[in-house]
Amino acid sequence: MADVYDDDNIFARILRGEIPCKKVYEDTHTLAFDDINPQAPIHTLVIPKGKYVSMKDFTTRASDTELAALLRAVGKVAELKGVHESGYRILANAGVNAHQEVPHLHIHIFGGRALGSMLTSK
Ligand code: AMP
Repeated sequence: MADVYDDDNIFARILRGEIPCKKVYEDTHTLAFDDINPQAPIHTLVIPKGKYVSMKDFTTRASDTELAALLRAVGKVAELKGVHESGYRILANAGVNAHQEVPHLHIHIFGGRALGSMLTSK
């Protein structure tokens, strides 16, 4: 997936308040909300508010403040969702092979049950 940002992607619309979300956490640079189609009892998405398509795009163009905010938000959300101690998995899909559906960088946080092996298909 080329790192060309689509202003009409679903997460851009959530950030503009055009579509509701179940907000978990927000700060100046970051928003976290529950996934609409959860794959585990806890499934929350953490996104930067800036217009970044992928982790490569984000780490190339974002400020150090934005980078730190996203990472800190992941830790904060794990705590807020109560999986910090029981365990959780974070995942960020990028591009076609990873089946990235929404072209705005997002970090999935999964938890609330035993999550099995790292990858389920080969
Ligand atoms: P990915 O395949 O990594 O791009 O994941 C995109 C994720 O966004 C999927 O888990 C979807 O269920 C989730 N998603 C799509 N639309 C919404 C929405 N309106 N609110 C919350 N999550 C969404």
